[in-house]
This record gives sequence, structure tokens and C-alpha cells, in this order.
Amino acid sequence: MSGVATVGAAVAEAAAVLGEAREVTLLAHVDPDADALGSALALGIALRRRGARVQVAFASPDRVPESLRPLDALGLLVAPAEVSGAPEVLVSCDAAEPRRLGSLGRLLDTAACTVMLDHHATNPGFGDVQVLDPGAEATVVIVHRVLVEMGAPIDADVARCLYAGLVTDTRGFRTAGPAAYRLAAELVEAGADPATLTRSLMDCHPFAWFGGLAGALGRAVLEPSGLLHTTIPLADVRRYRSEEIDSVVDVLRTAVEAEVVASVMQIEERRWRVSLRSAGRVDVAVVATALGGGGHAMAAGFTRDGTEQEVLAAIRAALTTE
Ligand code: AMP
Ligand code: MN
Ligand code: MN
Repeated sequence: MSGVATVGAAVAEAAAVLGEAREVTLLAHVDPDADALGSALALGIALRRRGARVQVAFASPDRVPESLRPLDALGLLVAPAEVSGAPEVLVSCDAAEPRRLGSLGRLLDTAACTVMLDHHATNPGFGDVQVLDPGAEATVVIVHRVLVEMGAPIDADVARCLYAGLVTDTRGFRTAGPAAYRLAAELVEAGADPATLTRSLMDCHPFAWFGGLAGALGRAVLEPSGLLHTTIPLADVRRYRSEEIDSVVDVLRTAVEAEVVASVMQIEERRWRVSLRSAGRVDVAVVATALGGGGHAMAAGFTRDGTEQEVLAAIRAALTTE
């Protein structure tokens, strides 16, 4: 069977399971982005409208990123502690592996059935129904296929969630293929407003952040190998929204000299979350996987304990062997 046929069969199976489900818990990965939460909420809204009991959750952090809150049109998001212990159907959205579900990964053992929806090439496969399509630009593309297969209407609330994941994971359609552009047109017709969504999701920061950004850029180092890195200290990670902290890597990647960029964010005294981006020659998913994370060839990440210098040394070593 070809890869496409396999994904198609999995989409049909996922639609059959979800079409029957009366109680569904949908999970986004930790530190949720618009693709993870947009996928979970789009599917959650559609299932709720069909009469299912629906919960949407993610394990950490304990607040919903401000820019993603408007996507929860029906108030489906619940705190991890409120998630029912043994859901009838569990859906994992945009998580490249069970560990990306954080503490809520325990539900994989208690749910009667787990549907995994993802597009990371590094995903080893988990769950009873696995819809894994590394060719999809975003997990919302897969969610859209499932909704179409279910015959679920794409209303404005669903369309906004899907558009949010599509526009962010393709960095404003820079990496989108023709089908993704067609999907975008469909979503705009259904009521997603690109200007409003992109402004809040990608193009707005509090003025106070400019000081934090100036610091991050001032600390940036370009090594002869083509590795460009900067560090964001714990004080800044705590002071600014995740939207601001996560956006640093998108500025770094504009350096023409850089082959690989790394934004090294201090999330605890000795714990670092690292975002990697490639200019094209290096597969950073391989690098991130070697360091305990995963992702895509051009965008990947990992979390690692140690000192800042140890984390940087590990990145240099992994780049040498990639
Ligand atoms: P980020 O740098 O956080 O925007 O992540 C870039 C890409 O790598 C996204 O597709 C993430 O889902 C993926 N990613 C980040 N961290 C990890 C991790 N620890 N394990 C697997 N995938 C990751
Ligand atoms: Mn994601
Ligand atoms: Mn994604």
C-alpha cells in the first residue's frame, strides 16, 4: 500500500471512531502552539456540535497562551486536573511522541481508544488509530481531512482554529503547497479572517518586549560553523509571554550567514528548552532527536538539563555528526 493510501485509510478509521464517540478528550502538546491547540479545538468544536461530551486540555504550562484563547469559542478547554481519568476516545494532536503530552500522557494507558493525529517525521507511532502524515504542512490539515470524512460542517469557529494552525506552521504560507492554499481559501470563505488572526497570532508584541528582544539579539553569537545562537535567561522567560519568547528564533533565522539557529531558553535553573531552525542544508530534526527531542527537517526542538555551556556543546557535537 502506498503512503497516501495508508494515511487515507487511517483518516477513514479516525473519522469512524470519532463519528461514533459520545465522550472525547482532545490533547495538545505541552507548550501548545496554534497548530496543536487549533487542531484539538477545531475537532472538539465539531464533535461538540454533533452532541458529544468534549474536553480539550494540555499538560503545561498552567495558562493558555493569550493569543490562542479566542480560538476556544465554546469554552472547551479544561485544566489538566479536571480531565476525566479514562475517556472513551482520546485524541493526541500535533504531539511527536507520548512524552510531548507531558503528565497527560498517562491517559494513553486508560483511554478505551486513542487516535493520534500528527505530521512530525520523527513520530515513532503511538495510539490505536495512527494518522501520521509527514507530508502535511500542519496537523490541522489532517484534522480537516477527518472532518470532511465525517461529513462535519466547517463553520466559522472551526475554520478559525484550522486557519490558525495552517498559517503559523507554514510561517505565513511560505512553506505551503497548493493544497494548503486551497484549504486556506476554503477556510476564509467559511469565515476565518486572515488579517485579524495573523495580527494576534504572529504580528503583535507588547512594547515592553522590545527590551527583551534587544537583549536576546545583543547576546547572539555567530560561530564559524554557521551556528547562530542566543540565550534567553530565566528572568526573561518568566517576565514575557510565551508568544514573545518563542518568536526570537524567527528573528535569528533571518541572518543570512546562519546555517542553523538555536534559541536557548532557560525554563528552570538547570533546564533549557531549545528551538532549532535550519536554512536548508542541515536536518535539524536529526539534531534534535539526537538530543532527546524531535520535529521537522527545518524546525525542531528539545529540552535538556545542564549548564548553558553544556547545552551549547551538545548542539555543536550533534551538528558535527549530523
Ligand atoms: P519549536 O521550536 O518549539 O517551535 O518547535 C519546532 C518543531 O519541533 C515543532 O514542530 C515542535 O512540535 C517540534 N518539537 C519541539 N520540541 C520537541 C520535542 N521535545 N520533541 C519532539 N518535537 C519537538
Ligand atoms: Mn506544534
Ligand atoms: Mn504542527
